[in-house]
Amino acid sequence: MSENTEIIGLQADRILPIRFQNGDLPTDGSPLISVVTPALNEEGNVERFYTEVARVLNEITESWEIIFVNDGSTDNSADLMRRLNEQDPRCKAVIFSRNYGNQLAIAAGLRAASGKAVIVMDADLQHPPELIPVMVEKWKEGYHVVNTVRTGYGDKAGWLKKFTSAAFYKVMNAISDVPIIPGACDFRLMDSVVVDILSRLPEQTPFYRALIRWMGFKQTSVPCSINARQTGVPMSFKKMIALAIDGMVSFSTKPLRWIMYIGFLVTAMVIPYGIWALIDHFIFNATVPGWTSLLILNMLLGGTLLVSLGIIGEYIGRIYNQVKGRPLFTIQELYGIDKNLNTQTVVGHSWDKTSEEQKLKREAS
Ligand code: UDP
Ligand code: MG
Repeated sequence: MSENTEIIGLQADRILPIRFQNGDLPTDGSPLISVVTPALNEEGNVERFYTEVARVLNEITESWEIIFVNDGSTDNSADLMRRLNEQDPRCKAVIFSRNYGNQLAIAAGLRAASGKAVIVMDADLQHPPELIPVMVEKWKEGYHVVNTVRTGYGDKAGWLKKFTSAAFYKVMNAISDVPIIPGACDFRLMDSVVVDILSRLPEQTPFYRALIRWMGFKQTSVPCSINARQTGVPMSFKKMIALAIDGMVSFSTKPLRWIMYIGFLVTAMVIPYGIWALIDHFIFNATVPGWTSLLILNMLLGGTLLVSLGIIGEYIGRIYNQVKGRPLFTIQELYGIDKNLNTQTVVGHSWDKTSEEQKLKREAS
């Protein structure tokens, strides 16, 4: 991997974005930059996100698109996205029919994006838009992927989040075949060459932080200070754990080997203990006092077996999911997107589209 792991000491405020000239823009009608944003219940952030990101993008070029992926929000997020699309057609939206989780929302956004460079960032503005020009500069220098590495958290991040995040990267790097830099987050720029490959991967549980490392290409990292979340609620602890397990299981089969090692160890322990037990029984005739050791051994074995079954289950579950071959996500509505996202041919609601009654209703409104 031609990875430049050294973090470049660029300061966002020192970068003067060089505006793209007309001659630099894509000639095939596609935008130069796409911003992909997964959003779950972000009604307090959607409009602010659009305003702030559009301001930064406009300083670089007018040739951009923002693709919101509404991941089954139960609030007003989808309406806001729809309205933004009416106001500015460069603001587009994929509306999922339910919640699929943020990695699959990113998957949909990558498939919908047609920019030459695609930037993935959270809707809650925790990822500072001021970093976009820095990333674009790196892209222009020839990097395929510009990752960001967290240098600090927003003030509101609790100790639990910091601790679990640090622990996750330690465990992940210990077991995974693909190293990931601690503090890597889902804020990154990718060249359309890379996005094209990612969009074709059939992974049912994509874990982008590691997938992108696994791909190789010319990658670099820039430091990024994560802002505090202004409104809305962050991902639950349960979702974070699920994401961590997904990451570990899809990037390593080492846990399966560990089970075998534990099995060997337990078996090896049984041999001396068994000999000792036999001697105890036949020579010393003292069998009853063995209760404590039997109990401990029993619990140890039972526990190891259950954990092992659980780990194997995780892998089998994944094989099962992949074999079923269901689409990664289902889409209810699309705004401003004419690309085929490879999931379904129709979106919307059939009665709504064809009936006379609805047509009259629409004309009246
Ligand atoms: N998100 C999503 N689907 C989910 C959970 C989260 O699309 O099921 C979005 C969320 O709206 C945000 C991004 O993913 O834009 C990151 O989530 P969050 O801010 O909750 O994560 P954190 O910043 O706490 O890691
Ligand atoms: Mg967040």
